[in-house]
Amino acid sequence: MTRRVERLERSFATDLERAVFKTPLCDTHEHLQYENAWIEEKADVLSDLLNNYVPADLLTAGASQKAVERALDSKDPDIAGRLAGVLPALERSRYTGYAETVYLCVRHVYGIEELTAAALAEAQPILEGLKQPGERLRLLRDVAGLEHVQTDDFVWAALPDPSGKDFFFYDLSWRNFCNGEIPVEEIHKETGIEVKDLEDLDEAMEKLFEKYAPCAIAVKSQHAYNRTLLWRERERADAAIALNKLLSHPDTELAEEDRLCLGDYCWAKGVEHSIRHELPFKLHTGYYVGNQHMRTERIPAGNLCTLLIKYPKARFVLMHIAYPYQEELVAIIKHFHNTVVDLCWAWSIDPYSTKDFLRRALRAAPLNQVLGFGGDTGKPTSAYAYSIQARTWLARTLAEEVRDRALSESEAIRVAEAWMRENQREYFQLEKKRRMVAAWSGPMLEK
Ligand SMILES: [Zn+2]
Repeated sequence: MTRRVERLERSFATDLERAVFKTPLCDTHEHLQYENAWIEEKADVLSDLLNNYVPADLLTAGASQKAVERALDSKDPDIAGRLAGVLPALERSRYTGYAETVYLCVRHVYGIEELTAAALAEAQPILEGLKQPGERLRLLRDVAGLEHVQTDDFVWAALPDPSGKDFFFYDLSWRNFCNGEIPVEEIHKETGIEVKDLEDLDEAMEKLFEKYAPCAIAVKSQHAYNRTLLWRERERADAAIALNKLLSHPDTELAEEDRLCLGDYCWAKGVEHSIRHELPFKLHTGYYVGNQHMRTERIPAGNLCTLLIKYPKARFVLMHIAYPYQEELVAIIKHFHNTVVDLCWAWSIDPYSTKDFLRRALRAAPLNQVLGFGGDTGKPTSAYAYSIQARTWLARTLAEEVRDRALSESEAIRVAEAWMRENQREYFQLEKKRRMVAAWSGPMLEK
């Protein structure tokens, strides 16, 4: 019989810790696989444990690319050989936030005490049990205790998800446009508009919002991976010239300045539509996933100030605490009423800095400026582990405030509730969105 993952039962040292573990937690950022993809993908426990952020630490710790790829390859039945190739690097990474979540998953999802090939093979029926219809929802809602999950699936479409209509929500992706990339064929397919000039593009962008904003939970862009976050207001005529260059030479890459001009123009249009459709606009700030490609000058949230000033009615969400520029971000969320920080992924990148950031934010910015969690991962098993990590470190953060007699325990519990659930429900107008999704009679997610 398949063993089932049970809700984390543990003894709590304090009322604060109990409250942090029992309060439903809003998960405002994932890249979750759709239900069918999760069910159909063949995977073994070793690959499930590592298919998240930890490969980056394994490479930094000295594992070879080949060893990491092999460990992730479920088709290779030699679990012992695959594990042996990465175990020394995993042990070296034992205390990083990325590896912490691997060991949380080992224990809380798979019930493994010691990481051995035999234990991994024995735990396989648990993974098979989770790859059944409805189990993704049960794991995240009933076991992890998440209030809802927001997923960026990298596309414009944001439709109700039949595997959990009031639980799984999707972002409307604006990444291409912010990058100054105009995928004309896809635009035509989605909107029927052939983009031949800037007026067509304006119309197409408007239409994409009309089509997908009703069920979207937010707009999202992670263009900080491809360009600077520095935004400048652009002349319409300059954007038209840049677009014309792109359309007349589709196989030639636009010059950097033209790409930024067109990107800034489309980014601003996206913000204007997000205001009209009452959607928060999420932006990747700070650290890069992976290894060997980060450009630190692109990623500080301070680059965004001109945009934050220009659009006071927008609701911006700055993600990942702009790590390692989190001190600047404390000042930004203190200063701008239209900007909150989302701790998604931050707990895993650097839990200690995130704790430190929160204690500073608590004393500098009003309570409503922080959204406390997003796992930022593709697997529901990893998302569960990341949520345990977030709860653990949040409890630790607030326990320090209580220890220092800066907060009473009941005050700390109220702070936790604001950061874990209340702020998200308000900022994303969650109940209104749930009603809109419930009333939706259009197409549904079919993946
Ligand atoms: Zn992400």
